[in-house]
Amino acid sequence: MLDAVWLVNAESLHVVAANHAAGELMAMAPSQLVGKDVIELATTPEDLFFWGEVAQGLSDSIESDTLVNDTHGVTHAVTRRVSRVQAGGEPPYFVVVLHDRSEQQRIERELEGASADLRATLESTQDGILVTDLVGRIRNFNQRFAALWQIPPDMLLQRDDDAVLEWMRRSVGDAPGYMRRLAAIDDATMLQATDVLRLHSGRVLERVTRPQCMHGRPIGRVYSFHDITERLEANERIETLSYTDALTGLPNRRLLADRAEIAIAQARRDGTPFSLLFLNLDRFNHINETLGRVYGDRVLLDVGDRIKTCVRQVDTVARLGSDEFVVLVNQADSRAAETTAWRMLDALKQPFSQGGMSFTVTASIGIALYPTDGASMDELMRRADAAMREVKHAGRAAFRFHRDRPEADHGVSRSRMRLDHAMRLALANERFRLHYQPQVDLNTGAVIGAEALIRWRDPELGEVSPGEFIPVAEESGFIVALGDWVLKHAVTQAARWDEAGLAMPVSVNVSALQFQQPGFVDGVAQALREAGLPPHLLELELTESILVQDAQDAMLRLQALAQLGVKLAIDDFGTGYSSLAYLKRFPIGRLKIDRSFVSGLPAEESDVALVHAIIHMGQALRLQVIAEGVETEAQRECLRVAGCDLFQGFLYAPALDVPAFEARIGFVGPARD
Ligand code: C2E
Ligand code: MG
Ligand code: MG
Repeated sequence: MLDAVWLVNAESLHVVAANHAAGELMAMAPSQLVGKDVIELATTPEDLFFWGEVAQGLSDSIESDTLVNDTHGVTHAVTRRVSRVQAGGEPPYFVVVLHDRSEQQRIERELEGASADLRATLESTQDGILVTDLVGRIRNFNQRFAALWQIPPDMLLQRDDDAVLEWMRRSVGDAPGYMRRLAAIDDATMLQATDVLRLHSGRVLERVTRPQCMHGRPIGRVYSFHDITERLEANERIETLSYTDALTGLPNRRLLADRAEIAIAQARRDGTPFSLLFLNLDRFNHINETLGRVYGDRVLLDVGDRIKTCVRQVDTVARLGSDEFVVLVNQADSRAAETTAWRMLDALKQPFSQGGMSFTVTASIGIALYPTDGASMDELMRRADAAMREVKHAGRAAFRFHRDRPEADHGVSRSRMRLDHAMRLALANERFRLHYQPQVDLNTGAVIGAEALIRWRDPELGEVSPGEFIPVAEESGFIVALGDWVLKHAVTQAARWDEAGLAMPVSVNVSALQFQQPGFVDGVAQALREAGLPPHLLELELTESILVQDAQDAMLRLQALAQLGVKLAIDDFGTGYSSLAYLKRFPIGRLKIDRSFVSGLPAEESDVALVHAIIHMGQALRLQVIAEGVETEAQRECLRVAGCDLFQGFLYAPALDVPAFEARIGFVGPARD
């Protein structure tokens, strides 16, 4: 026998024989065991008690787990079975069989340890976990699972699987869909799937399921549940914000453009005209400067409300920014437009009272009609805007229709032409320069990049700001040549730094027209090659408009650029056509929060909300977020706390020429020629 066996005389209770295994267990020769009193060999009270009862003739068998000590005093766990035997005329014996359990115990302890590890792991994840067997019985779950599904503790304690599964079914909004999906998952044992579940509680869970396998064979299924409610809310907020003006909640330029498109389509169909009224408050700056921006914001809210009372529900009142409002009046000819304009001027005439103060605000309105004044929303806006400006020149507080007045337009275009001409000369004469603005890590304070910004000092015009000449260059197409120049110089500078041991990524602004040139991607590749710059040290800053104009084509270009290894960022994020749809699809690495939102931090609630939403969204999409135009410590702190990654702005440094940039970041490079 493999187990240890003693034969015990039933009268004397002395061992009369022991096998080899018994000797090994007790660490002595089997012969040494012979003659020993079993009561002496007993280690536990149970054994003592049993042999005592045997002696009194009260008991003659036992089987249980117990312990025995060997001669060295080492304790062994055993299963001990005692039975009485009597064969033929022989005196009766007790057979004691001892089965050594140490190995089994070691395995049990290991299993216990592993299961404790598993439990700890299960409980420490942020996801709810549910493990089932192949027929859907619950095998394991963690507390987070119970919390996410708000399963009553009683139900879990009772381990009533049916009740738990039924509870889950009743918690989801679309129970039939949920059941269908579960059935499909059950049918496909090896299926891995991700689904989104909306619960009645308002929570949204992402469910990931995969098979659980042992030795390559499925034995059950693991479900993990991740709460994505907040992430979705941030996304939805961005979507609404991207259609509405954050301050007034009125439609913004984007929504206005959508509505104008619909109005144009309808007008084409049934031939009814519509009109666009461009309204700008008179001397609004004055209110802002004397009473403060908070006050100014309240006035803008009031103005929005009043304008809304002048039009029908079907019309659109949009705010473009600052004190500019645009009203789209559907099915309105010039007479209807005029009536509306009068109504708006009247509505504004009523004094405003804010914080115990009373004052009046007037406005100038320009009107353009479809189709007589333009065929597109852009054209109508330009015309209405021009008409509004004429009102301002003529003394404000009135309205005016657009009229073709070639002489007036002439003045504008001549100065534009002059600027355009001066730019072309400046490029030929190398009068453009690049300045670099440091981009700083909000957590470490390290400078991690530089944005190249163009500068131009003209002998006649003096220093001209890019805000002035870039739009002119974009309109005339000159931006393509200018953009090439910028790209080439910025890449050369980055390569120079790189050679000198300063790996400083440089960000270059790219205009839409430049981006759309057929050879744009090749041009970038060539510039990198010629300068010998590793592509990851170049970042291109694109505007949102680039991505929406011809999304298909833009996608191909962006992919080609990403393949080159060039980094991509969205500039002025939040001001244009912010749409999650494209962010998800395009290979973008970074979002730049526009300066206009940063300037309101930390006081402006709407700016704080928007900035938070952008940061959340960036995090959800794993994009870096950089804030532009950070001027104060308070702004920086607010952004840091909100989880923003990077910033640039006057607080750290404006755009600097190369020597000043190097001095600011404390770089001592090799002497320049
Ligand atoms: P952007 O790309 O959004 O550049 C940021 C602008 O904010 C720069 O104005 C910069 O000097 C300014 N800025 C930086 N920090 C602060 C701050 O703390 N406070 C304030 N108030 N402003 C700050 P800049 O250089 O006048 O450029 C204006 C715009 O012109 C740029 O906006 C960009 O759209 C365009 N631009 C500049 N250089 C180029 C270029 O090389 N190519 C193209 N296509 N566009 C350019
Ligand atoms: Mg930029
Ligand atoms: Mg910007």
